[in-house]
Amino acid sequence: MTTATAFKASILHCLADPGGATDLSRSKAIEYIDDGLLIVEKGRVQKIGEAEALLAGISENIEVVDYSDKLIIPGMIDCHVHYPQIDIIASYGEQLLDWLREYAFPAEKKFANAEHAAQVADFFVDELLRNGTTTALVFATVHPQSADAIFESASRYNMRLISGKVLMDKNCPEDLRDDARSGYEDSLALIEKWHGKGRLSYAITPRFAVTSSEGQLAEAGRLANEHTDVYVHTHLAENEDEVELIAKQFSWSRSYLDVYEHFGLLRERSVFAHCLYINSQDRQAMADKGGAIAFCPTSNLFLGSGLFDMQAARDKQIRVGLGTDVGGGTSMSVLRTVSEAYKVLQLQGQALPPFDALYLATLGAARALYLDDKIGNFEPGKEADFVVLDSAATSITSRRLSTSDDVAEKLFALMMLGDDRCVAATYLMGKLAHSGANSRT
Ligand SMILES: [Zn+2]
Repeated sequence: MTTATAFKASILHCLADPGGATDLSRSKAIEYIDDGLLIVEKGRVQKIGEAEALLAGISENIEVVDYSDKLIIPGMIDCHVHYPQIDIIASYGEQLLDWLREYAFPAEKKFANAEHAAQVADFFVDELLRNGTTTALVFATVHPQSADAIFESASRYNMRLISGKVLMDKNCPEDLRDDARSGYEDSLALIEKWHGKGRLSYAITPRFAVTSSEGQLAEAGRLANEHTDVYVHTHLAENEDEVELIAKQFSWSRSYLDVYEHFGLLRERSVFAHCLYINSQDRQAMADKGGAIAFCPTSNLFLGSGLFDMQAARDKQIRVGLGTDVGGGTSMSVLRTVSEAYKVLQLQGQALPPFDALYLATLGAARALYLDDKIGNFEPGKEADFVVLDSAATSITSRRLSTSDDVAEKLFALMMLGDDRCVAATYLMGKLAHSGANSRT
């Protein structure tokens, strides 16, 4: 009696950083199997290979799920998103600091109500799965119950998700403030309750240095030092007015990143969203200390924040993943986010070849989150989180992809044109977690 399941489809994943390669035949970083089989046992990848060869050798007891004509890739990873802001996605007309005051803070106040938090968290997790996102690093609000709600929703699916309550004790509405001591204590209680439970992890989450006192940043750094296996998740240098404020608020600092570094918040498993206005010294510090950047193109465009310099990050070999940054971002879809990332780089004369884009959305993001030993590709033993993409889901993807047999070209077109409609199914640990209503089977 076996518990294995085999999934028959075209299979594509990254074995390493493609480093600019576009030609599959010359890239050892990519594995593509046109008629492939992914065998999953006890939630983990057992093996992948050519369907014909593997099917000949497997027991008749193994269930075969047929996704022929569809493409299986590893589950996509969102390295920065705010679940409490889902209801204010696409709010008109402001840049970061005004946008926070006008839209984000009023929405976040509602999370004092645990029922509201639970309802939004359930919707948000379903949206992740509908979009083929199987792991996310997620901001909650200042309220501890908002972190409880997102962890509870994710645990229902045994989803790999990282979150934490926001730390924020100044420059924000009174009723959204904690203080240095309660922020430390509430975060510690949440770490003890959730970190390492199933596939959940905790992130110490100062919103950004603007909204924290030095005392609070010091307490966050103390907690980070006491719990080196938890994450630190915050924003860095998103907007020029914000950077000016930081220079005034922390007049002793060399740079914005220096503020976080000073308080012990730059380390492995620290993830900084945006990083648009950082310099070469900052990038070197980020690389040396093992911090990671979440590149959030739809948000950077929507809030008029600026253009992320990917090449400069690559030159220093900094860990980079993609973030949707909803509600500043305009889509929960990592496919849409890849498409906007490509355009942001085009505006700067930089390239994002298709396999590099796949890497950013999967294995590269896993590496940014120090999870590449668990997720990000189909190496045997890894957690079987994957997405079934249907290129025939919309008339335009169907027509465009039928014009090519080249996998790089097809992948690129699918990433430029695709969104949640192309997600035929999402699997977590080999179990069906979402099945797309729009897919033509
Ligand atoms: Zn954000």
